This record gives sequence, structure tokens and C-alpha cells, in this order.
Amino acid sequence: MDNCIFCKIISGDIPSSVLYEDEAFKVIMDISPAAKGHAIIIPKKHFANLFELEDDFANKLLIVAKKVAKAMKKELECDGINLLQNNGEAAGQSVFHIHFHLIPRYHDDKVKITWTPG
Ligand code: 5GP
Repeated sequence: MDNCIFCKIISGDIPSSVLYEDEAFKVIMDISPAAKGHAIIIPKKHFANLFELEDDFANKLLIVAKKVAKAMKKELECDGINLLQNNGEAAGQSVFHIHFHLIPRYHDDKVKITWTPG
């Protein structure tokens, strides 16, 4: 889709640090991490958000999230992981190509997860 930053990341027109890739998804490091290790899972097909997402992708998205979360927990030895997803500007969505945030967490890490709409 024209002018979608995540479509440009998927096509490789915009570089990114890729953690995982398969035929349907790319998992990259967030450019402005809420905490060290913050990654985002992006479907290769463009859907603005949950309101548009096809069921087949919804199923696969959670399976990929589970796979990446397990790898993240093992590699980073974190104590927990936030799985977050924003839908619509009012909910803090800033990139209108659906994605899941995976944020590694540690006991007493003092990380505050906040989204400021706009
Ligand atoms: P949202 O606010 O839509 O839930 O999350 C969008 C996320 O995309 C933000 O955490 C932001 O830091 C990240 N982001 C925006 N532009 C880029 C980019 O060009 N590269 C990467 N790796 N992340 C981006």
C-alpha cells in the first residue's frame, strides 16, 4: 500500500532489524522501544487494524506471537512479556498497518508502558 511505512519495511524499501520472517510475517525491532528488546510483529499483507484483519491472519498472528514470545523469553531471560496492540488513533495507534508489540519485562524494571494518542 502506498505511503504505508510498514509496507515499505516489508518490501525492504525501508531497512529494519529483522528477528524473524516467514511467508506471512516479519518481526522487527521497534525503532523507538518502550523497553530494551521491544519487537513488533507485522503481517506482510496490509490490514489497517483489527477491524480489517482477516480471520486466517488473526489465527496465524497469535501463533507467531507465541513463537516469538517463547524465543524472546529464552534468549533474553526476561520474567514476562507484554503483548500489546492498538486499534485506531483514539487508542494510540500511530502506524495504520496492524502489528503486535512484544515488550520484554523484568521484575522491578520500572518500565512504564504508555501510549499518547497522536
Ligand atoms: P502503534 O503506536 O501504531 O501501536 O505502534 C507503532 C510502532 O511502530 C511504534 O512503537 C513505533 O516506534 C514503531 N515504528 C514507527 N516507525 C518505525 C520504523 O520506521 N521502523 C521501526 N522499526 N519501527 C517503527
